[in-house]
Amino acid sequence: MRYWSVFFLFLLLETGLAVGQTTAIKCGRLIDGISDAPAEGVTILIEQNKVTQVGRNLTIPSGAKIIDLTNSTVLPGLIDAHTHILLQGDITEEDYAEQILKESIPYRTLRAAAACRIALLNGFTTLRDLESEGAMYADVDVKKAINNGVIEGPRLFVATRSISTTGRYLLRNSAYAWELHMPKGVQEITGADEARRAVREQVSYGADWVKVYADGGYYRTPDGKFHSTPNFTTEELNAIGDQTRTLRRKLSAHAVTPDGVLPAIRAGAASIEHGFALDDECIALMVAKGVYWCPTIYVNVWVAEGRAAQGNPMNQVFNETLPTVFAKALKAGVKIAFGTDAGGFAWTENEAKEFAFMVRWGMTPMQAIKSATGVAAELLDMQGKIGVIAPGAFADVIAVREDPLQDISALERVGFVMKDGRVYRNEMAEK
Ligand SMILES: [Zn+2]
Repeated sequence: MRYWSVFFLFLLLETGLAVGQTTAIKCGRLIDGISDAPAEGVTILIEQNKVTQVGRNLTIPSGAKIIDLTNSTVLPGLIDAHTHILLQGDITEEDYAEQILKESIPYRTLRAAAACRIALLNGFTTLRDLESEGAMYADVDVKKAINNGVIEGPRLFVATRSISTTGRYLLRNSAYAWELHMPKGVQEITGADEARRAVREQVSYGADWVKVYADGGYYRTPDGKFHSTPNFTTEELNAIGDQTRTLRRKLSAHAVTPDGVLPAIRAGAASIEHGFALDDECIALMVAKGVYWCPTIYVNVWVAEGRAAQGNPMNQVFNETLPTVFAKALKAGVKIAFGTDAGGFAWTENEAKEFAFMVRWGMTPMQAIKSATGVAAELLDMQGKIGVIAPGAFADVIAVREDPLQDISALERVGFVMKDGRVYRNEMAEK
C-alpha cells in the first residue's frame, strides 16, 4: 500500500509539474500570421502545446520557463501547402525513374523522414504533402511516426497516391519495353467507377486530401495561348470531386493551363497546383469560387535548364510568363497559398526560397508571410489552430534574427523552431 501511495504522489507531482509548466516567449517583434502590422514588445504564454495568452505587460507566472527572443522577429510556424516528402528532386524523367525503380519504398520512407526533419528545422511546422509518387501509403506512415513521436517532423496533411488516368503519368509506357509493366507514380483510373473507387480506397487508407493530375502535355499555339491535354473526362473528374466531397475531404488539382484548370474547378477543386498559365477566365472563376492557388515558383526555376537541355523548354517558357500571371492573379484577389513543390526540387534546397520570388513579383513581404501562415491555414481548414499566434492556437512558433518585412529572405535563416510547445531549434540565445 505504502509503495502505491508513494507512486501516486510521484505521479501527481510529475503530472502537476507538466500541467502547470508555462513557457513565456518574449518577442522583439511579433508577426502573428493574420494581422496587417507587426507588434512590438509582446510576450506569448504557452501551456503544454497551446498558446494561452499574447500581449504586452502580461503577468508571467512564477516558475515559467522564459525564452528570450527580444532580439528577433517571431512568427507562427510556416506552412508549405505543396510538398513531396517521398521525392528527392527530379529534373529529368531518368531522375524520377532512378528513385522509383532503384529505391525500395522503405528506403524512400527513411529519406522522407530526413526530409521532414529538414523542413521542420527550416521553420515549416506544417506540410500538405501532395502525393507519395509511387510510394503508396508511406506518407500516412510518416505522419503516424511524427504524431507518435517516433521521428521529428512537421504536422502532415497527406494525399497518398494521387489520381491520373491510364497511361498518363510516369513511368511513361513509351520509355520502356512494352512487355514490361512499369510502376506508376499515381493511381491510374479509367471511367467514373474506377475514379470513385480510387477516392474511396485512398481515403480508407488515410488520405487527408485527394489529388488529381488534371492535365499534362503543355504547348503553346501561335496566338500565344497555352494549352494542355486534359487527363480526365468530365464524368471522371466530376465523379472524383463528388466522391471527395461525400467523404468530407478536399480536392487538390495539378492543373497548368485553362484546359486543366477550368474542369478541375468545375469538379470542385479547392486548390489549383502550379497554374503557370492561368488566364483571365481561370482567375475570375478562382476568385468567384474562392479557389486557392499554389504557384510553386521555385521548382520551375530549379528544373527549367535541365529539362530544356533534354528538349523540353516549357518550364523555361513558364519562367518568363509566370511573373505576369502572378501579378494578375494577385491583383484580382486570388487566394495565394504558399506551396513550393519541395521534393520536386531537392530537399537540400530551403523551400523558403519561394518567398523572395513572391515578393519580387508583387506581394508585400507581409502578404507573402500570410500566404504561408493565415492563408494556408484556411486552405487546410485549420484557421485559428495553425498559421497564427493567438490564444487557442498550437504552439508552433519560429523566429528570425533579421526583419523579414525588410528582407523576406530572412525566412531562409530561421534560428528558432518550436512545434506543439516543444523547441527543436534555438540559436537565438547565442548573440
Ligand atoms: Zn507536386
